[in-house]
Parts: sequence; C-alpha cells; structure tokens
Amino acid sequence: MTVTSSGPLPEETYDVAVIGAGVVGAAIARELARHRGLRIALVEAAEDVGEGTSKANTAILHTGFDAAPGSLDARLTADGSRRLARYAAEVGIPVERVGALLVAWDAEQLARLPELAGKAERNGYHDTRLLDADELHALEPRLGPGALGALEVPGESIICPWTTTLAYATHAVLAGTDLHLNCPVNGIRQDGDRHELSCARGRLSARYLVNAAGLSADTVDAMLGHHDFTVTPRRGQLIVFDTFAGDLVRHILLPVPTALGKGVLVAPTVYGNVLLGPTAEDLPDKRATESTAGGLAALTGKGRRILPALLDEEVTAVYAGLRAATGQDDYRIRAHPEQRAVTAGGIRSTGLTASMGIAAHVTGLLAEVGLDLGAAGELPPLRMPPLGRTAARPCRQSGLVAADPEYGTVVCHCELVSRGEIRDALAAPVPPRSPAGLRRRTRAGAGRCQGAWCGAALRDLLERSPVREGV
Ligand SMILES: Cc1cc2nc3c(=O)[nH]c(=O)nc-3n(C[C@H](O)[C@H](O)[C@H](O)COP(=O)(O)OP(=O)(O)OC[C@H]3O[C@@H](n4cnc5c(N)ncnc54)[C@H](O)[C@@H]3O)c2cc1C
Repeated sequence: MTVTSSGPLPEETYDVAVIGAGVVGAAIARELARHRGLRIALVEAAEDVGEGTSKANTAILHTGFDAAPGSLDARLTADGSRRLARYAAEVGIPVERVGALLVAWDAEQLARLPELAGKAERNGYHDTRLLDADELHALEPRLGPGALGALEVPGESIICPWTTTLAYATHAVLAGTDLHLNCPVNGIRQDGDRHELSCARGRLSARYLVNAAGLSADTVDAMLGHHDFTVTPRRGQLIVFDTFAGDLVRHILLPVPTALGKGVLVAPTVYGNVLLGPTAEDLPDKRATESTAGGLAALTGKGRRILPALLDEEVTAVYAGLRAATGQDDYRIRAHPEQRAVTAGGIRSTGLTASMGIAAHVTGLLAEVGLDLGAAGELPPLRMPPLGRTAARPCRQSGLVAADPEYGTVVCHCELVSRGEIRDALAAPVPPRSPAGLRRRTRAGAGRCQGAWCGAALRDLLERSPVREGV
C-alpha cells in the first residue's frame, strides 16, 4: 500500500501510469487494480485526489435521460450510473434517489416536455412521467408561482462526489496501486517500448499511459504529439444554502434545457444543504475558480423564481468548478495504438456519473492497444465513512461511543464530527493533507460556521498527524 507525496519516484517500470487523480483517473486506476498482475501508478499534480473539477460539481448521479442519443456520453453515463449506484451501496458512498422534476415555466417549455420524454426513451430510460401544474405543486409545495407542469425523472439521484473519488483511489491503493501526489507530469518521452514521464519529483517509467488530466488533458496530449482538441474551461458557480433550508425542496428541480446547456438547478444535497447553480461561463483561464458578484446575482435571480423562500435562508458557502469543454458535445476518449496510450478528455458535465463506465471503456481500449490485463479478481473489502444525512453520526451511536469514547468527543459542532472520525481519516490509506482534504473526508468545518469555531482544533490535529509530519 503506497502513497507518496514527496521524495524521489520508484525506479521500476510500471505497466500503466494514469495521469490525473480526479474522479475519472481514480476510477480507471481502481478498474485496472482489479487485474492484480498489473503494476499501476496513479500520478497526480495536486497534494490530494479529487482536487480538480471533481471536488466542485453539482453532485448529481444522472440517469443519462437527456444525453445526446447514440453518443459515447449517453452510453457511458447510463452504464456508469448503474455501476456507481451498485458500488455506492457496496462501499457506503452516500446516495439518495430523490428524483428530478424538469419544470416548465412557460407554454413553449411545456410543449417541449413530451419531446424530452421521447429523448429519454431513445436513451433507454423509460420511467419519465408528465405532470400537470397541480401534481407538480403537490410534489413541491414551495415551488414559485407560474410553473405550468413538469417531466418527472424518478431515477435522478444525489451523491457525495468527494467520497466517490476517495473510494476509488482508496480501493486502487488497497489493491496495490502506487499513488504519487504532488507529482505534475511536465513532459513525456518515448524510450523504446516505455514512456518516460518527467515529473516535478523525478522520472517515472511506464509501458502504457492513460491521460485523465481533466482541464489539462489537451496539454498532456500535446506532450504525446496530439492536438485533437483544446479545453476551454466553462465555469459553474454554485451557492450552498444552510441545512435549515433542507425542508424547502424534495427533488432536483431542473429547468428545461436549452442549446446553452442544462441550466440552473435547485437540489438537495446528501448532507442536508440545498444547492443553487451552476452558471455557465466560457473563460480563457483554467484556474479561474473564483465566485463573482455577477455570477451569484444571476443565480439568486433564478433561484428566487424557482423557490422564493430559499432566498430568505442563510448561505453556507459559495464555490465554482470548471467543466472541460472542448467545442464538441461528446467525450474525447481515444486510443493511440502506436503509443500504447489512451486519452480520456473532454469529460465535461457528466464525469462523476460516468466515471465507472469510462473506466471500463478505457480499460477495454488499453487491452485493444496491447495491454495484457490478465484475470480480474475481487477488490479488498472497503467501507467509507457515513457522511450523508440519512446515516446517524458516530457521536449519536451510543454503542460506538461506549466502545470508543473518541467518537463521543465532538470537534465540529455544526456537522457533529467527532475526534474519532478525524483520527480515522488521518490514519486512512489515502489521508488528507490539508484542512480542505479533512473536510471532504469528514465534513469537519463544512457546516454553517465554516470552521470558525473548530478550525484551530482541526488544524492542530492535522499538524500533529504522522501524515503531515511526513509531507
Ligand atoms: C459546475 C459543474 C457541475 C457539474 N455537475 C455534475 C453532476 O452533477 N454530475 C456529474 O456526473 N458530473 C458533473 N460535473 C462534471 C464532473 O465534475 C467532471 O466531469 C469530472 O469531475 C471530471 O473529472 P476528471 O477526473 O476528468 O477531471 P479532474 O477532477 O479535473 O481531474 C483531473 C486531475 O488531473 C490532474 N492533472 C492535470 N494535469 C496534470 C499533470 N500534468 N500531471 C499530473 N496530474 C495532472 C489535476 O490536478 C486533476 O486532479 C460537473 C462539473 C462542473 C464544473
């Protein structure tokens, strides 16, 4: 079990190096790790897994009902959705099948709903239902005035995106994958039947390569001599409302999509908050993850119409993520047989949902370009911490607290996170290296005070952890 974040890289030649430990790269590493004869390296520029787009999305486990029929996106989203729902139940990733309502606010949108139901049918999704205004308001009593009807999509779910990426990476590491953090790949040289990766921490050698570098997939492709697409970041800003707003909405409330995309939604989260967003802004800068006054004002304007009472609630946080748009409405997944490499690029709006579908597809492409996968086996058992609102926090479980009093010592009072959970996260196979990483693993500091009360104590625990000392 190897996770490195500093020092020289191993001299061995790996069978496969996966560049990028977002939800897609981590899913690919996990899928490859089922083939126990392979030596795999998962190489990540940041200090933690899931630090790119994968940490800042809308957290919906889509059905793929609205994808372009026949596209790779449609196929892998539907496949990935089924796989991830099964996997989430197995390892304890929080998921709730709350369902979605595509709300029509004018006659034109209402007229489009049957067409969208037809599209869902063509995507193999047969459970949609048309609702009139009365049925819609009965399902969502706090919806703003003027809604004329909706298309119900009962399979749409909400999920914890952080636990998803972490579960994949943890499973890969437990099965023998080496995870190298703080390790940006700056160049790739072909040396006979090997790729020599020059990384910030030295050289790394691998026979096969997967480019899962998200927003930088075009840059990494260029290192291999390919210029098939350019990534233009499309920013999505979001507002997180306090858990007191949780009772206002029961479903994922979607707009009727336009040519510009899926539009702004209101949705519950698996932690009990309410999300409003995202915006869609094309930008030149791949680091532009700031929230803006204009973006937030646009969101509150839309939110006021959808769910007026939401705007009376407290805002807990704002954040923004960048979609990897490439000027084409489909994924840019392609094998380069002559280089024993596969690119998984252009994973824009559905990558969280599709991650396990993409991983299976990419593994198939690696086999097609010559990788001998060998037999697939079972992965070690894994159970992720229960972060969702439907699970009882450890501090509320008297048996657990009696057996281990650390679970009864609450450090983060907003989210009821105990010292025992923080201890467990710091001792996990893929431990956090920052307060933000600890928050994604435990919810500590993610509540309404945003760490104002517990921040110092959390930082102290983190600083004193063996992981931190080894960085
Ligand atoms: C606002 C928004 C809302 C979304 N909502 C949803 C949703 O509800 N449901 C859904 O399914 N999807 C959603 N998505 C899409 C989903 O979040 C992405 O498709 C997914 O996170 C992409 O994962 P990735 O692994 O390809 O990219 P990333 O998470 O960005 O991972 C790429 C990784 O590669 C690393 N890297 C880059 N260059 C190098 C290098 N040279 N060397 C080493 N490492 C490198 C980066 O540090 C990064 O960690 C949304 C996206 C956004 C922005």
